Amino acid sequence: MTNPIAPSGCSNTPVLKERGQHEVFCGLTSIIWLHRKIQDAFFLVVGSRTCAHLLQSAAGVMIFAEPRFGTAILEEADLAGLNDSHDALDAEVNRLLARRPDIRQLFLVGSCPSEVIKLDLARAAERLTQVHAPRVRVLNYTGSGIETTFTQGEDMCLASMVPILQPTDDAELVIAGALPDVVEDQMLSLLADIGIPNVRLLPARTQDQEPKIGPNTKFALTQPFLGETHAALTRRGAQHIPAPFPFGERGTTAWLWAIAQKFDISRQHFDAVTRAPRDRARRAIAAHADTLRGRSVFFFPDSQLEIPLARFLTQECGMQADEVGTPYLHRDVVGADLERIPEGPRISEGQDVDKQLDRVRASRPDLTVCGLGLANPLEAEGLATKWAIELVFTPVHFYEQAGDLAGLFSRPLRRKQLLKLEAAE
Ligand code: SF4
Repeated sequence: MTNPIAPSGCSNTPVLKERGQHEVFCGLTSIIWLHRKIQDAFFLVVGSRTCAHLLQSAAGVMIFAEPRFGTAILEEADLAGLNDSHDALDAEVNRLLARRPDIRQLFLVGSCPSEVIKLDLARAAERLTQVHAPRVRVLNYTGSGIETTFTQGEDMCLASMVPILQPTDDAELVIAGALPDVVEDQMLSLLADIGIPNVRLLPARTQDQEPKIGPNTKFALTQPFLGETHAALTRRGAQHIPAPFPFGERGTTAWLWAIAQKFDISRQHFDAVTRAPRDRARRAIAAHADTLRGRSVFFFPDSQLEIPLARFLTQECGMQADEVGTPYLHRDVVGADLERIPEGPRISEGQDVDKQLDRVRASRPDLTVCGLGLANPLEAEGLATKWAIELVFTPVHFYEQAGDLAGLFSRPLRRKQLLKLEAAE
């Protein structure tokens, strides 16, 4: 039963739903961090030269290792339906797997062109698995830019793995969401100190470490953009542990405590284990608080991290949110953060970029969090901005990164202050 006088923050705030032009990267972008995370996988984008350029320019050229991603280019004749694209794809995959015995999992990643010509990659993945099993399994998901945000690529990838995870009746904890290795190790060490047994990761670093799933599995998310993965795990009978996301001191503590409670850990033991890192995180955030306190922030919908980050900035850094825009509002996933954001900001879902630009110009926030394409024009209009994509590429989760996370937001404000001072001299 809910407490009738408990504050609900923004839980009951009416949501402005928008549908119009949106400005985001496509889901192929997530291959840039996924190919580093899943060490025995290869991501084969079935797309155009544009898709190949996006990946190469975003990921850079790897000189010391064979890359674990590539593009099977659809030529004009494929797009016109003049070639049998399935034959060409099979030949490409056969060549790749013959040359690369290190590949154990192959992801066929759909793109705008493959979707437009309705190339059935699910069928291709089934057919290729039959050919290459048991050495390699072939999965598919879409990373296309048609109606997606760039973080949905990871969500689609993880969700594609869930149906084939082995079943189990063991009581295990699965943590879903790709984190940099160093942050993942910190998290595992915290969970071990708290006394949580049998922690498994999705994605695992290699196929033989991947989790099993069943009715006694509990799972927690480290990334708020995993709506499909949440649904896929729930369909397999696993139980979600709802919690704020582990950003900052309070977010991390609430996330860990939500898990600890499910495993009957005492508050006394939990507090003893987390006291030192909590203190460190609080001090690290305080170093940025003077710059952030009382300043206003406006989120454009981009990475799907917006609601948890607005929670962090308002609850832990003293900022005020004018508008928190998110591409999708999954209350099952971000509800615990939403209820901790003090009432006041407009909450919007989806995007109509021109209307939102009108609103940001009207409110002239101290800081605007937005995509790369909007940042430069808004800077030219005198608004300080933070690129949303940087928040995904920078280690920002858990206690030890809390200061860095606050720093990502305080830095543009400091820079603007310095520029003002220089201009005044
Ligand atoms: S998937 Fe679509 S949006 Fe992404 S690079 Fe390819 S064509 Fe562009």
